[in-house]
Amino acid sequence: MEMKITHPIPKDPSRPIVITGPCSAETEEQVMKTAQMIADHDIKIDLFRAGIWKPRTRPNNFEGIGFEGLQWLKKVKDTYGFPVTTEVANTQHVFEALKAGIDVLWLGARTTVNPFSVQEVADALKGVDIPVFIKNPINPDLQLWRGAIERIYNAGITKIGVVHRGFSKFGDTIYRNVPQWQIPIELKRNFPDLMMIVDSSHICGNRDLLFEVSQTALDLNYDGVMLESHCDPTNAWSDAKQQVTPFDLKEQILDRLVVRKTGANDPDFQEDIEELRSRIDGLDKEIMQLLGNRLKVAEQIGLYKKKNNIAILQQSRWNEIIDKAMEQAEPMGLSKEFVSKFLKAVHQESINHQEKIMLGESSVKKV
Ligand code: PEP
Ligand code: MN
Repeated sequence: MEMKITHPIPKDPSRPIVITGPCSAETEEQVMKTAQMIADHDIKIDLFRAGIWKPRTRPNNFEGIGFEGLQWLKKVKDTYGFPVTTEVANTQHVFEALKAGIDVLWLGARTTVNPFSVQEVADALKGVDIPVFIKNPINPDLQLWRGAIERIYNAGITKIGVVHRGFSKFGDTIYRNVPQWQIPIELKRNFPDLMMIVDSSHICGNRDLLFEVSQTALDLNYDGVMLESHCDPTNAWSDAKQQVTPFDLKEQILDRLVVRKTGANDPDFQEDIEELRSRIDGLDKEIMQLLGNRLKVAEQIGLYKKKNNIAILQQSRWNEIIDKAMEQAEPMGLSKEFVSKFLKAVHQESINHQEKIMLGESSVKKV
């Protein structure tokens, strides 16, 4: 199916799209004061955001002010001229938001994860012409993200963008939600014209990494940033650790962000990059050949193990491989984390092939 998706909001190519405002609308004063601070610092924003209905992981946290907050967003729009956006998760949210004249809607990560909810929102949007941003699902499932885009598109919405807010994790990482950049990059390969925004606030979960993550996204050709800002961040009713004042948003993040050229127009640059890219292609081919050779040797070991009735996994041998590789990795400038992940994947592939051999499905030619 050919999809004709267009940008949900216009883009000025000289600067990133900026969507900002508090995590949640708490009081009329808090919403208006935040908007006023944005205006006072002359921050160029494309959308003012605030959550009206908040999907909280556990009960008894602030679950949003509800529909009365929509009027405060309207007041922001009337007073400062900022188009406004909020999250919708069911039919009633859509109905109330449309009634209040909200300019742009977004689907949150906990909605995208559930096709029933996405379909409910899509059905409520039938016949309506409103731009919609779709956040990634909380779990790293590209197909769910695609599915949500398709459901909203099938309802007749064509102005669609996506917001990358990171994926749930298990165990310790520096992020609240791990970015897994390869997933949005793959999505962009499927939908090349899709407007892509990074929500650094929910990826980071704290103020410290916001600039770094936002810059990484721009270096990956994202169109802009969604960053939570609040007139009094430390006392925010939700997501206090990750919100910044409008002043810090400008000084610490927006003014420091660099939009790099895509480079398409400069012939010298183009030639240099082409040469470097062909070197990368050549190296990738060599890596594939080497991996193929490695696998053939592993298969021969598998045959030998089968003949001698030896178990596939030899823990001491595996430890030896990892230790040796770690030693070699460091002077090459490769991180231990990468080498360990890479070798685990290579090792798993060898085990899979050796298992097939044990089961008698050998693809190894007799030597
Ligand atoms: C939010 O934007 O405040 C929010 C709840 O985000 P997410 O759906 O990404 O968790
Ligand atoms: Mn939030």
